[in-house]
Amino acid sequence: ADAECAACSRAPLPVLGRDVRVPLVTGGEVGYAALDYAASAPALQRVWDDVAAYAPYYGSVHRGAGYLSQLSTDLFEQSRETVAEFLGCRPDDELIFTRSTTDSLNLLASALPAGTRVYVFDTEHHAALLPWQRADRAQVEYLPAPRTPEQAVASLDVALHGAPKGPKLVCVTGASNVTGEIWPVRELAAAAHRHGARIVLDAAQLAPHHPVDITALDVDWVALSGHKLYAPFGAGVLAGRADWLREAEPYLAGGGATRKVARSGDALSVEWHSGTARHEAGSPNVIGAYAIASACKALTEAGFDSLVTRERELLARLRDGLAEIPEVRVLSLFGAGSARVGVLSFVVRGWNSSHFAAALSAEYGIGVRDGLFCAHPLVRTLLDTEPDEPGECGAPDAAPGERSLNAVRVSFGAGTPQEHVERFLGAVR
Ligand code: PMP
Repeated sequence: ADAECAACSRAPLPVLGRDVRVPLVTGGEVGYAALDYAASAPALQRVWDDVAAYAPYYGSVHRGAGYLSQLSTDLFEQSRETVAEFLGCRPDDELIFTRSTTDSLNLLASALPAGTRVYVFDTEHHAALLPWQRADRAQVEYLPAPRTPEQAVASLDVALHGAPKGPKLVCVTGASNVTGEIWPVRELAAAAHRHGARIVLDAAQLAPHHPVDITALDVDWVALSGHKLYAPFGAGVLAGRADWLREAEPYLAGGGATRKVARSGDALSVEWHSGTARHEAGSPNVIGAYAIASACKALTEAGFDSLVTRERELLARLRDGLAEIPEVRVLSLFGAGSARVGVLSFVVRGWNSSHFAAALSAEYGIGVRDGLFCAHPLVRTLLDTEPDEPGECGAPDAAPGERSLNAVRVSFGAGTPQEHVERFLGAVR
């Protein structure tokens, strides 16, 4: 079924979990349809194979004289180079392995120079919305939800135009984890730089679906998570400009980040490393880093052109199918014509979204997500908005006063067979 894809011209990439079967409340069992890639994507078979081949050679990184320790250190550092190349890093950029996008953005927040003003749309995922608030030396300005990509750029331009002198940072998502809509990153970066601000890209949802090139996009930092990039082994990445990171206090205090520690009277004197080690205290997650590098290689070899084309075809099938169901309303910030990745949220008239998602699981073996998707302000804005384009959104949601409190999200990626999309549409119908 994987190879025979009527709506899409290419076969999916092999992923783990294709043969998992789950019980149905109606009796019997069915192959699991993982349609929650936006939360965590399955591992690519290639990533799993690479990790399994390396596993017997696992050893400590930067901490041992033995052969396996040397090998693990080499693999860890090679992984850094592979991922940096995948992300189109500039020669002076630094790439730090973290736990996740959340961790990466918190790390950057901890490294802001004193008095930094941060600009962030209130539509962001909480991981991109909240860390700045906790940085005691920063002031945050929340920009309201734009209704077009052009409005986003104009709104940022106006906010930065009136900004006082001093360090400034813009944080923006590449693709929304709620609507799948792609943000105008290059244009926002140009606006930020025009006003002397820096910009960090939350690429958690963009990177699994689209090439992310720091140099071409001209962003200062990129953050992403391995588990959304088909490499679910607990690692993430922050890549970009070295200067703020080198000058900041280490994100974590501990072994590996220090050059020298000595007793000096009642106190300790500490000399910290200045490079990537400064923010990677503790034993690094070499399997996680290696898995991300493996996923980067696999995606590059498969070719993003092919992946994007396939995903677009599946997405068109999904959207067309949902548009035929009058009770379904697809949530959209930018409207029908906007560029998207394979992530889509919707509500169904007369249904509680949590019950709807539970029924998809129990009766059809389909795994989606319901809720507010860690982007509460955005989902509330979308649920409170009447669709501008009824054709695109299907029927409007319930009458005023009967609005949905949450939504259902369906998301897919490089490993999704068309059968999963067809089963999902059949189930919704
Ligand atoms: N940003 C976006 C756009 C996301 O979708 C997510 C995860 N849902 C995150 C950040 C946070 O990623 P993680 O949970 O891996 O830290």
